[in-house]
Amino acid sequence: MAKVIVVGGGLAGLTAAFRLCNDAQVHVDVLEAGPSLGGQIQTDRSAGFAIERGAEGFVFRSEAVPALAADLGIGDELIGQSVLHSYGFSDSGLRVLAPGEAAAFLSFQVSTADLGKGIRTFRRGMASLIWALEDRLRSRAQLQCGAVATRIEPTDHGASVTLEDGSRYDADLVVAATPARATASLLGPHLGEAHAGLALAPTLSSVTVELAFERAQVDHLLDGTGFVVATDQQRDGLRAGTFSSAKFVDRSPPGQISLRLFFRPSPEDVRRLDDDAWTQRALAGVRRVLPVTGQPLRTWVSRWPDALPVFSDGYKAVVAAAEATLAPHAIVLAGSAFHGAGIDAAVRSGNAAAATAKVRGLTS
Ligand SMILES: Cc1cc2nc3c(=O)[nH]c(=O)nc-3n(C[C@H](O)[C@H](O)[C@H](O)COP(=O)(O)OP(=O)(O)OC[C@H]3O[C@@H](n4cnc5c(N)ncnc54)[C@H](O)[C@@H]3O)c2cc1C
Repeated sequence: MAKVIVVGGGLAGLTAAFRLCNDAQVHVDVLEAGPSLGGQIQTDRSAGFAIERGAEGFVFRSEAVPALAADLGIGDELIGQSVLHSYGFSDSGLRVLAPGEAAAFLSFQVSTADLGKGIRTFRRGMASLIWALEDRLRSRAQLQCGAVATRIEPTDHGASVTLEDGSRYDADLVVAATPARATASLLGPHLGEAHAGLALAPTLSSVTVELAFERAQVDHLLDGTGFVVATDQQRDGLRAGTFSSAKFVDRSPPGQISLRLFFRPSPEDVRRLDDDAWTQRALAGVRRVLPVTGQPLRTWVSRWPDALPVFSDGYKAVVAAAEATLAPHAIVLAGSAFHGAGIDAAVRSGNAAAATAKVRGLTS
């Protein structure tokens, strides 16, 4: 029986593992460094709230995510946004934006096909995908959390993975579904000239703060998806806010609401400032934009240092060079760090990694 090791239990790694497990001839091991699976998808469900700590949805045009959801048996849990329009905040206050204007406020490009369509998610939160993948994989693959890989190397018959505790695993194929800089460290000299470029991969950091209030504490209709702050009006890195409990159904208990504030901080600030400092920044920011009284009922601070890849032309060339260098070996790269940021890209990349096993004759 062929053996495949997937390093990294985020969405891309789990998708690859799930697709590979459909073949009875393949044994799959997933090695995840963190305490739980999911990577940048983490949904907290407590006290009637569903709080997204990472991704909150995926692009409407995605075909790969609904297809994966259907194969996992959770296609009927997909939902769209309850509302579509957003507000922009500038010194003249809040005003409703035209479709696409929110992206312009934040100076990023959205394809015309995606304009005004919003995003899709799952009724219980994005982690539904992870829970379903974990559920399906538990009986068919070996899933290990707290397994920190330190080295991936080509061998005569495939590739091997060494863990922090010194244990070594051999496989016919290794899928590296890890962030770019971690992958550079895992593969070291086997990346050839692409090593330096991956080790210095450009990234952005993110902090999000979710604040829960009684509905009566916020004197606004909350009748949109949220607000974006004009680039020249941003303070403390606060770029946008989501009216989470208005944007999607079942996000908060009756009579309460939650607001999610998005910061774009330096990696140093992500680590340096404690949760209380981020909460104070979020409260000050939300009070600038909305009439809010009193203190939040609950708060959730989520830190993502160096988490978001930046696909500059230079970085795309580095990824292409890394893949060309690895092509003769039984090692493939997967994940949104290599194949395009976001949930849709992570699923497509996981599908492609599993297809590699077929090309190599490991699966039927
Ligand atoms: C705050 C935030 C909001 C986002 N919002 C959206 C959104 O709304 N829509 C959207 O499309 N995308 C969004 N994204 C991006 C999206 O979540 C990611 O693109 C996607 O989840 C990445 O999946 P992945 O499997 O490629 O990588 P990851 O989720 O990063 O998984 C990589 C895994 O590798 C593990 N790992 C690292 N090193 C090792 C090692 N040495 N050994 C073993 N395991 C290791 C990590 O612990 C991690 O679990 C958001 C991201 C963030 C941070």
